[in-house]
Amino acid sequence: TWDTVPLAPPDSIFKLTAAYKADPHPQKINLGVGAYRDDDSKPWVLPVVRKASHILLNDPALDHEYLPITGLPEFVSGAARLILGASSPALAEGRVVSVQTISGTGANHLGALFLSRYYHFNGEKVVYLSDPTWVNHFAIFRNVGIEPKTYPYYDPKTIGLDYAGFVKALEDAPERSVFLLHACAHNPTGVDPTEEQWAKVADVVLAKKHYAFFDTAYQGFASGDLDHDAKAVRYFVQRGVPMLVCQSFAKNAGLYGERVGALHLISPTKEAADRVRSQLSVLQRSEISNPPSYGARVVALILNTPELFEEWKADVHTMAGRIIEMRKELHRLLTEELHTPGNWDHIVKQIGMFSFTGITPEQSKALTERDHIYLTVNGRISMAGLNRSNIRYFAEALDRVVRG
Ligand code: PMP
Repeated sequence: TWDTVPLAPPDSIFKLTAAYKADPHPQKINLGVGAYRDDDSKPWVLPVVRKASHILLNDPALDHEYLPITGLPEFVSGAARLILGASSPALAEGRVVSVQTISGTGANHLGALFLSRYYHFNGEKVVYLSDPTWVNHFAIFRNVGIEPKTYPYYDPKTIGLDYAGFVKALEDAPERSVFLLHACAHNPTGVDPTEEQWAKVADVVLAKKHYAFFDTAYQGFASGDLDHDAKAVRYFVQRGVPMLVCQSFAKNAGLYGERVGALHLISPTKEAADRVRSQLSVLQRSEISNPPSYGARVVALILNTPELFEEWKADVHTMAGRIIEMRKELHRLLTEELHTPGNWDHIVKQIGMFSFTGITPEQSKALTERDHIYLTVNGRISMAGLNRSNIRYFAEALDRVVRG
């Protein structure tokens, strides 16, 4: 048995983390992993999460019963309000189906599985992913028999958005195509469309009757403001685009390992929503039976308690603020102190946890081999890996590899 099972290569991000851990160099830096770190390079348990956990664990009524198949009701309703807006007409009209999932990955999977079963694809089952995208998107769709294709998104020449290419791909795709869109803080590039660009994208999506598959893993991380980062999603709902939203609380609540997420599917009518809900329950039942309860209870408490919600907003602001500060400082070091050749404005223009530096794979490898700085070969750096103690070391190393 298993003679024919080929050996799979290790996941590149986890391989990078292992190499970082094994490196004894005192100034080593890990810029690979997409998890927030504080100014001491330590994982940060959000103070509001500590508080909510404390309340929960001291509640004598807390038990370990199964949650409903579609999740903790007060979690999913709070999560839907957070992304769609408390006053969303779609919510008031009962057109939104919300199901608790195994974080954002599980939301993507359940959304993809549902589409593969019930979406009226125009010919072959295809999803259009931005080039580049979170690499896991490819495997998630292939697993359910949907073939990923890519649409132009990032332009290496401008280190910005290939807006014309993006719009042309929307126009050229067959009607009723499925397009995966990053709601904010695009992973891996940090490049987001502007409001005007989103409006044009919505025009074309509507004209071509496309389906918008939104992935939102960084609400709050982009601007520090939860509502601001939900703007594109809310705008598409308001325009009546057929769509779903995959939502993760891994980053914005620092609950990576607790796997807290939700899938929200917006239907044209309440009747359609009821049918969709019934089938999502059937799929969820065979996949995980019931979602995990602890993280969902923590988030539900935060979302539904006004004082805790205010505290959470401040914690999100702290994380986003530190990242924005690191962007400014890196930009300042490269442009004002080191006079590094080239234009580095993209460092401050890009949004969220990641930045595409624009350096070549060879330069990325040189940073790892010579300077013990671990990053993916595409030149993506996690801004959360930088802090006041290591940013100068990084800027100087980057300056050296750029000068060659
Ligand atoms: N989508 C995107 C774009 C992501 O970057 C991530 C996290 N890297 C996820 C979804 C899912 O993460 P999780 O399953 O941890 O919520």
